[in-house]
Amino acid sequence: MKDAKTFDNPSYYEQFNWKAPKSELLEHLEDMVYYKTIEEMKKISRKYILLTVPNGEIIEKDFIECPNCGQIFNRSYHLRSLSENKIKECFSGYRLVQSFEYGSGKRGYSPFLLKIKHRLAPSSSWIPNYWTRNQSRETMCPRCEIRFTYGYRFDVLGLLCDFLNIVLSPHKPYWLFVLLGK
Ligand SMILES: [Zn+2]
Repeated sequence: MKDAKTFDNPSYYEQFNWKAPKSELLEHLEDMVYYKTIEEMKKISRKYILLTVPNGEIIEKDFIECPNCGQIFNRSYHLRSLSENKIKECFSGYRLVQSFEYGSGKRGYSPFLLKIKHRLAPSSSWIPNYWTRNQSRETMCPRCEIRFTYGYRFDVLGLLCDFLNIVLSPHKPYWLFVLLGK
């Protein structure tokens, strides 16, 4: 694992003769588009593919519910969680040149606790104020396209799940850098 200093240093990348496609989008793509995009990336890359994706994100942690149609979606519209292993699987024919985690830490969430929270606590309590400030709570439903603000309403069970989760899920760097080579 490399430290962020390497990542911040532009000269580091020059050695790869920068003709590599780069992405911060794979996590947003539906299955069909996702696999097509990977095939395209393989076609246009001469030698390297650089990916920066959220690091094994628990996308359900950031679920919100549309008050109009009931659609439940990740507030950053992320549709998939990516890890080094998943990337290696999808980019067969490429070898891993380098990978490291970087960026500020974000706590994961126990899938079991999330299930309890989503089933038993109202959706208004899923994303507490200490995760997201009020200014960034504007969103649009990807299904019915209405704009709304997802407020926060205190709920004992929701809070209890969050507290238990602090014990179960450590922080980890938010981003994953993966450099693949042909
Ligand atoms: Zn909706």
